[in-house]
Amino acid sequence: MSGRKGISILGSTGSIGVNALDVIDRYPDRFEVIGITAWGNSTALKAQILRHRPKVACVGSEERAEKLRRDPEIKVTEILHGIEGLLEVATVADVDMVVSAIVGSSGLMPTFAAVEAGKDIALANKETLVAAGNLVMAEAYNKNVKVLPVDSEHSAIYQSLAGHRRDDVKKLILTASGGPFIRKSKEELKKVTVKDALNHPTWSMGNKITIDSATLMNKGLEVIEAKWLFDVSGDRIDVLVHPQSIIHSMVEYIDGSVVSQMGMPDMRGPIAYALSYPERLEVGTPVLDLGRIGKLTFEKPDLDRFPALGLCYEALEAGGTSPAVISAANEVAVDAFLAEKIKFVDIPVIMDRVLKAHTPVEAKTIEEVLRVDRWARDEAAQVIKKLKNEE
Ligand code: NAD
Ligand code: MG
Repeated sequence: MSGRKGISILGSTGSIGVNALDVIDRYPDRFEVIGITAWGNSTALKAQILRHRPKVACVGSEERAEKLRRDPEIKVTEILHGIEGLLEVATVADVDMVVSAIVGSSGLMPTFAAVEAGKDIALANKETLVAAGNLVMAEAYNKNVKVLPVDSEHSAIYQSLAGHRRDDVKKLILTASGGPFIRKSKEELKKVTVKDALNHPTWSMGNKITIDSATLMNKGLEVIEAKWLFDVSGDRIDVLVHPQSIIHSMVEYIDGSVVSQMGMPDMRGPIAYALSYPERLEVGTPVLDLGRIGKLTFEKPDLDRFPALGLCYEALEAGGTSPAVISAANEVAVDAFLAEKIKFVDIPVIMDRVLKAHTPVEAKTIEEVLRVDRWARDEAAQVIKKLKNEE
């Protein structure tokens, strides 16, 4: 590759997107921002357009796009909108790598399009692999595309696998902070509020993944993500609660050795690793001072208080479209919880009911996955209505 690496960021105004731009900003000689996208927040997008002068930018609605097109301050950037716009930003010439950082299954189509177009992927949007891991990884293999994990756990595993023989791997061990409710009893969990759930102890992230961390659904999605990224079956992927979020994950080898990656919780670390792999960049992450931290603790996850994690293992075991279904049902449930329409403990109940109503199939195309995704969303909405009537 000559010159700078061309980057498109899908979801540039989100938590991962902003951190990715922070990393890129430190190395203008290495990276060039070609495309960025936001859904609703066109004010933040405009500031990013003026700062990075990308070739293309995309917003959700035509109306928002028109406003940006008429803006006299925006000169060099072509403004696109909607799903067509997202697909364009994901596949435009000059892009070497796409940072997939949209939240939820809306990230699936543009990420898949980027893989089809032969772009390397820095993958934050775990829902893409959960819903369509087989299709995405097969296409990545066909197109010789690198899928580099941005998720801190998967970045840690990627780093812990480097230099070792894959045949010697016994297990992957994903660490979990446990979220804000790790010490709450089942009774107490019935009463937690949206505000409590959004108060994550170690990571600052978008709302959906913060709720997923509180239910442990995030870890369940990560187990499925790990299966596809590293081609390891679910029974060889363990979860370990580690509230300090210093050890980001581990690989156990057949000789009993466990290799892990550590660092302060700061997403710029794994983002920079994905952007510049195999090189490492200094990006201002705080130094890990184990002498000051003193103690790292570990405990087994409690599937009784946090059933979402167990449901993800069930969906993985059931195979086919089951993971896509549980992920879509969770998205609807999380939206309803954030809108204060359901209780925190209803989230896994909704997923469980939708999963039980589904007969998994082997999806052969992304369109098929998206049809199942829509079915699961409708079904979840029905379950929420029924829950209301049961009250
Ligand atoms: P966020 O909510 O902060 O940002 C989401 C971005 O996607 C925004 O730019 C938003 O405008 C855009 N967006 C939202 N809905 C959209 C839609 N329907 N169509 C197109 N674009 C849309 O989310 P985040 O915390 O940055 O997370 C993004 C993804 O990265 C998620 O899949 C999450 O699980 C994953 N992830 C996040 C973190 C983290 O630290 N935040 C860590 C690991 C993985
Ligand atoms: Mg993670």
